[in-house]
Amino acid sequence: MPITLTSWGAAQQVTGSMHLLELSDGFRILIDCGLEMGSKGQETALGFDPTTINLVFLTHAHMDHSGRLPELVREGYRGDILCTEPTMELSAVLLRDSAMLQAKRMANDLHGRAKGRKKGDQAFRKLTHRLEQDAEHCLRQFHPLRPEKAYRIRQNLQITLYPCSHLLGAVSAVFEIKETDQTLRIGFSGDLGRFNYPGLPDPRPFPEVDYLVCESTYGGVNHQETRPPTMVVEEFIRQALELEGGQLIVPAFSVGRTQTFLLVLQQLYEEDKLPLDVPVYVDSPMAILSTEVYRQMEDWLGRDALNMISMYGDVFSFKRLRFIQNIGQSRKIAAEYRPSILISASGMLEGGRIHIHLKEQLQNSRASILFIGYMAEGSLGRKLADGEKYLTVDGRTVEVRARLCYTDVFSGHADHNGLMRFVSQTPPSRLRRVFLVHGEPDRMEALADDLEKNGYKVTLPTKGKSYTLD
Ligand SMILES: [Zn+2]
Repeated sequence: MPITLTSWGAAQQVTGSMHLLELSDGFRILIDCGLEMGSKGQETALGFDPTTINLVFLTHAHMDHSGRLPELVREGYRGDILCTEPTMELSAVLLRDSAMLQAKRMANDLHGRAKGRKKGDQAFRKLTHRLEQDAEHCLRQFHPLRPEKAYRIRQNLQITLYPCSHLLGAVSAVFEIKETDQTLRIGFSGDLGRFNYPGLPDPRPFPEVDYLVCESTYGGVNHQETRPPTMVVEEFIRQALELEGGQLIVPAFSVGRTQTFLLVLQQLYEEDKLPLDVPVYVDSPMAILSTEVYRQMEDWLGRDALNMISMYGDVFSFKRLRFIQNIGQSRKIAAEYRPSILISASGMLEGGRIHIHLKEQLQNSRASILFIGYMAEGSLGRKLADGEKYLTVDGRTVEVRARLCYTDVFSGHADHNGLMRFVSQTPPSRLRRVFLVHGEPDRMEALADDLEKNGYKVTLPTKGKSYTLD
C-alpha cells in the first residue's frame, strides 16, 4: 500500500485544518483537528473513524487547528496528541473556554433564552459538565516534544519540529518515513509566521523535504506596512488620544495578538512614548490566563521579549497596565470618556467583553477603534470594518460614529513572499510535490501560479480525496 495524504479540512478554505497521513503499513497520523470557524458548532462528521487513528500531531493551539480534539477523543481516539509545551498550555486555556461557549450556545439552542430559565439552566449545567469533561479527557492525552530534536515514534517513523513564529509554541514539522526501498520526508508548514515578529523568535530554517503540505492564507498578497510595529502603534496612539481625545479600543484575540500588542505598548512605555497618565486596560479573562502562559514559557519567547525581561525585570507588565477581572469594572471603564487604551476580545467582535465597550463607545465620535487582526466574512468585526453605519450588538442597535483604523503590521501569517521563501528551502528538482491548503481558492491559485512558474509541481487538495505519495 502506498503512503497517502487526505485533507479532511482546510481544503480550499482557511479554517478547519485536519490532514490524515497513512503510512504503507496502515499506521495513521492525524495532523491537526481544527474547527471550521464561523460554522457555529454545526460541523459535519469527521470523515473518518477516530478509533482507527494511531497518532495525532498538533501544530499550534489556535482553535481552527485544535478545536475538534475533544470530539475526536469522545469518539474513541485513545493515543497521544503530540505538540510543544506552549501549545499544550495554550490549548488548555482555549479548549476549556470553548467547552463553556459551546455549552452556552447549545443550551440556548435547546431551550431558547426566554423560555423556562430553570430548565435552561439545568441543561446548561449538564452540557457544560459534559463538554468540560471532554476537554479534560483530551488534555490528558497531550504529550509535549522539544523543537529541533528528532523523535523516533516507531521503527519506521521519526518526527522533528521547527518553530515557525506564528504563535507561542507554533511549529512546522517533518515526518521522516522509512520504506523498504527509500526514506521519505514529508513536511507540514502549519501556520507560518513572520520574521521580526514582536515577542517571538524568527522561524527556524526548514530542511529539504520530498513532499510539502503548505498553508496559503496570503497567497498573492504582500503585507503593506513595512515600518516597525512600535512606530505604527505610536502614531495611532497620538492620533486617537491626543488629537481625538478619546479611547483607543483595540479588539484582539486573547491568545497571541493581545500579548504581541502589550509587548509593543510596554516598549513604548519604557521609552517614554506613551502619553502621560493614559491608562492601558486589558479586558478579557482569557487574555489574563494566556498572558500567564507566555510568562511561564520564557524559553519560547523572542530575543526582544527576553531583552525586556533583563532590562525591566518583567514583560507584559508595566506601571500603567491593568488587567480587568470583573465585569463591573469593565462597565465602569466603558462609560469613561477620557483618553485610555483598551484591549479586549473577541478579536472579530463575535462575543466577549468587547461588546460592553462597543455598546458604549461606538457612538462616540472621539473614540477610535484599531483593527489589528483578521476579520472573517460575516463576523461583526468585518461588518464594522466594511463601514456599516449602524451595528447591532447584543440586540442593541448603535450608530457608528467612532473613528475606524486598521493595520496589517501584526498579521501572524507569512505573506506571499514569505510563503515562496519557505517553499524554496527545497529546490524544485528535489521537492516532488507541494500541496496547498489553508487558503481561499483565489489565494491558493495565486501562490500555485508563482510556484509553478518557479518549477514546482502543485496540487490543491479536494476535501476527502486521497493523494498518493510515492
Ligand atoms: Zn493559527
